[in-house]
Parts: sequence; structure tokens; C-alpha cells
Amino acid sequence: HVEITNVRKSFGGTEVLKGVSLTVPPGGVAVIVGPSGSGKSTLLRTINHLEKVDGGYITIDGQLVGYQVRGNKLHELREKDILKQRTDIGMVFQNFNLFPHLTALENVTEAPVVALHRNKAEARKRGLELLDRVGLKGRADAYPRQLSGGQQQRVAIARALALDPKILLFDEPTSALDPELVNEVLDVIRELATSGTTLIIVTHEMGFARDVADTVVFMDQGQIVEQGSPQEIFANPREPRTRSFFSKVI
Ligand code: ATP
Ligand code: MG
Repeated sequence: HVEITNVRKSFGGTEVLKGVSLTVPPGGVAVIVGPSGSGKSTLLRTINHLEKVDGGYITIDGQLVGYQVRGNKLHELREKDILKQRTDIGMVFQNFNLFPHLTALENVTEAPVVALHRNKAEARKRGLELLDRVGLKGRADAYPRQLSGGQQQRVAIARALALDPKILLFDEPTSALDPELVNEVLDVIRELATSGTTLIIVTHEMGFARDVADTVVFMDQGQIVEQGSPQEIFANPREPRTRSFFSKVI
């Protein structure tokens, strides 16, 4: 359960998030769309405290992200506690970001063993199950350079799942892929969406958004302009800015 409340963020003198509020219930799937520079990636990055908010706050299952309340003031968590908190929040980026010197399986088991001190043999077993789940049975010992972009991105998804996150964030997970590899990655995310994982996905794949989203969020210039079911947002957008955006991308 993610609650984003009135979040503000500036870079230099420019406010790029101007009071954004969004709630994603347990098992919910929110898809964020909007033009380049509208603040989509920045919003995702505030959810795991890769960007500190300048105003507002975010909670995950009721727990404040990046801060704790002492007295009646907010104090930033220590680096160690921030890293611990991030293990609840899986993130998959556009460019896979796998460790090049580790095999697929080692990429998946690294964080559970190192950050969560899980038993190596158990982490390995779970890692193999996760690789199987993303359709990579038999590729556990391959290095990233031996895998296609679509396969690498599926390893990245398995890696994120290995920490049993409370929520999974995707920032344009298919934008760097050759067109013929897009669907194999979207299919894995579709499966997650129907299996009750809480997801926030930034994507330009509108057909996919329509299929998986419980709620579609249209952002422009640092604000949520409009939010609703895929039916409402794609078929009956109320705001002129939403209509004009979709007339260009669909
Ligand atoms: P895209 O669709 O191109 O990925 P986006 O919606 O994800 O765009 P953001 O990356 O969140 O947009 O950027 C929002 C604004 O904040 C942009 O104007 C960007 O230049 C600016 N910005 C983002 N990160 C930084 C930073 N670290 N320092 C300064 N400005 C930044
Ligand atoms: Mg972005």
C-alpha cells in the first residue's frame, strides 16, 4: 500500500513535482504516462528515496519513506536504514543495470545474500525459481553480455522480485529494447500484475497500459492532470491536455 501525499521536488530553482498525490492499494497497478520532462522518473525515484522530497511525504504500508518522526519533526533516516528500507521497494530501470561480471543467477541472489543475509543455498533455489518464472530456465549461468536485451530485462525483474518487495517500480522497462523483444518483457509484467504484486509502471506502451492498469495517471509539468480507469482516461479523457497528449501518442 503506497501513499504519496502532496510531494514536491525542485532542481535548482525549477519545481518539477508540484504537489503530487497518489494512492496505490495492495495489489494495485498504477500506470503513469505523460510527456518527456513531466516528472515521471523523478516521482518514481522519490518513492525509494533516490530523490529526497522537498515537501509532502510518502508511506509504504504505513511506514514513512526516508524519514522518521521524532518529537514532531521529520529526521532523515541513516544511510543504513535507507538501504534497508529500499529492499522493500524493487526498481527496474530502462537499461537493465545488471552486474556485468555476475551470471544471471548471481545477479538475482546477490542482494538477498549480501543485504538480507539469506542462506546461500536457499537464495540459489529461490533464484532458480524466479528465473524460471520469468522464462529463463536454463540460462542461470549466462552472463549479461550473452543474453538479449529482453532476457537481461527479465533477469532484472527476477532480481527485483528476489527481495520480496512490497512494491515494484518500473521506469520505461521496454524503451531500450528492440521492438521484437518488447512483448516478452511486457508478458512477464502482465503476469506480475495479475498475481497481486503492487506495481507502479511508467511506460509509453499504451496498449499494455490499457490491459494491466487499475488506474492510469496522466502527468504533465510536474502535476497529475488526470487519473482514472483505463476506460476513463483513454476513451473519455476530461482534460484537454490529456486529450492532446493521446492524440499524439496513440
Ligand atoms: P522522460 O519521459 O523523458 O523520461 P520524465 O517525465 O521521466 O521524462 P523527469 O526525468 O522526471 O521526467 O524530469 C523532470 C524534470 O526534472 C526535467 O525537466 C528534468 O530535466 C529535470 N531533472 C530531472 N532530474 C534532474 C536532476 N538530477 N538535476 C536537475 N534537473 C533534473
Ligand atoms: Mg523518465
